[in-house]
Amino acid sequence: IGLRIPPQKSGVSGDRLDGASTIARLGKTVIVTGGSGFLGSWLCDRLLKEGHRVICIDNLMTGRIQNIQAYLSLPNFTFWQQDIINPVYIDEPVHQIYNLACPASPKCYQADPVHTFKTSVIGVMNMLELAGRHGARLLQASTSEVYGDPEFNPQSETYFGNVNVYGPRSCYDEGKRAAETLIREYHLHRGVDTRIARIFNTYGPRMRYDDGRVVSNFIVEALKGEDITVYGDGLQTRSFCFYEDLIDGLVRLMHASSEVDHPVNLGNPDEHTILDLAERVIEMTGAKSRLVFSDMPQDDPHIRRPDIACAMRELDWKPKVPLQDGLARTVAYFRQDLQDRGATEVA
Ligand code: NAD
Ligand code: UDP
Repeated sequence: IGLRIPPQKSGVSGDRLDGASTIARLGKTVIVTGGSGFLGSWLCDRLLKEGHRVICIDNLMTGRIQNIQAYLSLPNFTFWQQDIINPVYIDEPVHQIYNLACPASPKCYQADPVHTFKTSVIGVMNMLELAGRHGARLLQASTSEVYGDPEFNPQSETYFGNVNVYGPRSCYDEGKRAAETLIREYHLHRGVDTRIARIFNTYGPRMRYDDGRVVSNFIVEALKGEDITVYGDGLQTRSFCFYEDLIDGLVRLMHASSEVDHPVNLGNPDEHTILDLAERVIEMTGAKSRLVFSDMPQDDPHIRRPDIACAMRELDWKPKVPLQDGLARTVAYFRQDLQDRGATEVA
């Protein structure tokens, strides 16, 4: 399908990945689904640096080869273009599975809502079956969207959420909720070792310039000197986590004791209005952009802030990178990215 990947030592063969016995085994064999996406590629980066063998499974619907280009020639990295809504068989031991496959931006997950839902339900079931066959531990990338448009701030893991089951965000929110249910039952009734991370808004280099999320949209608009489009009045809030902190939280959760078999919030509790974010981006880029306002999308959450007491207590984790520093690094990334794309006007 589509892109051709340079031949790997371990080979790419339809729905079955054949043994990679020739590959030096420095650590564990770890599958990262969604591994060519924004977060998944940074996770591959971290795992490869730790000496693990990484099998990246991705259908490339929102992921990009450029995110993993540097790893393709490594002997302990295999890319496999595969959709997780199809069963996956691997003829070598697998120790861990990070299941990140799923479009994360509303624009992307609403492009094919049926496929999004299938990814979270059938795809997750396929990964749980794979984990069961290999006795591997599975970590699911869940989301703060399981809390919907929250009635409480901050949101702790005990909050059941306020989610519209029949709206434009439901394919994602309800898919991720159903995935958590499946994971619970595979854990309790099929003995699969599982972890669940409820990830709050995370940003950084390797986001797509056209991904539609607020951080990438605002920075790209500012750098191109275009108007910055705020949805609604901009007083809705989000709490933004830099990718490095989030990846560290995921790895800690994967290694946490079996007592941490319940969902854990991972995010930065530093909460900002969307207007505040827009003003920071304008100031940081020196852009002449004006703010323009358009309709608030249906069911867009009004507030969001993680309660991370559980992650602090059980993973000894908390985010370290302040918004200003993370934004500066993301602006630098997009400035280069736009220049590489030949954008005519880059601030
Ligand atoms: P992303 O869109 O950059 O990455 C998703 C990756 O999954 C892409 O590479 C895409 O091609 C791949 N993919 C999608 N459906 C697939 C399928 N059916 N089979 C195989 N591959 C598939 O998004 P991201 O921000 O890197 O998010 C990664 C994960 O983290 C997602 O599961 C998302 O729901 C979760 N998450 C992210 C955030 C965030 O703020 N970044 C917040 C909450 C949850
Ligand atoms: N948003 C905005 N302008 C944009 C993109 C998003 O004002 O160009 C708003 C959006 O309505 C939401 C917030 O920013 O209130 C975060 O949106 P994003 O899509 O990044 O993430 P999510 O809504 O899934 O948290």
